[in-house]
Amino acid sequence: MKVENHTIYNTRDLRKLFLAGLKHEGMDPKNYKIVVKYRKGRTYGYAYYNRKWIQINLPKECYQLSIKQVARTLVHEICHNRGLRHREMDYKTIDTSWAEGYSIRFEKPKEKKRDIQLERFEHAKKMLDKYESKLKRQKNLVKKWKRKVYYYEKVFENKKAASKEKI
Ligand SMILES: [Zn+2]
Repeated sequence: MKVENHTIYNTRDLRKLFLAGLKHEGMDPKNYKIVVKYRKGRTYGYAYYNRKWIQINLPKECYQLSIKQVARTLVHEICHNRGLRHREMDYKTIDTSWAEGYSIRFEKPKEKKRDIQLERFEHAKKMLDKYESKLKRQKNLVKKWKRKVYYYEKVFENKKAASKEKI
């Protein structure tokens, strides 16, 4: 069985519950695929007829999650996988007692451990880049104004020379 979990409900908990449900319903978990996604509102699902494929949609807020409801949805979808249509199902007799004692935890997003030295190294590299390009710009400006000064020095030298020649 493959569980494709797009939520932050704990994948191992989901897998345990699904396996228990499949077992209870007498289904072979081999080649089963169960996709878990978020949906607004209550838990519900989709399934293919005669294929081992189910999608279960869970509420985004974990306090709204009812294991019994998830179990009911799972069994309902398994019935579709078996080829049953709604008119062939008896909703009242869906047995969810097998799900008692199971829980689905909310997976805490993993906290990234900060590496202060690495952060400072990255910062230092950024600052070096910044001031190196600043320095490059400044060097270009120095060159530019040096050329201008040189040009006028030449102009005045030539003027001086020319006036001397006149005398
Ligand atoms: Zn249905």
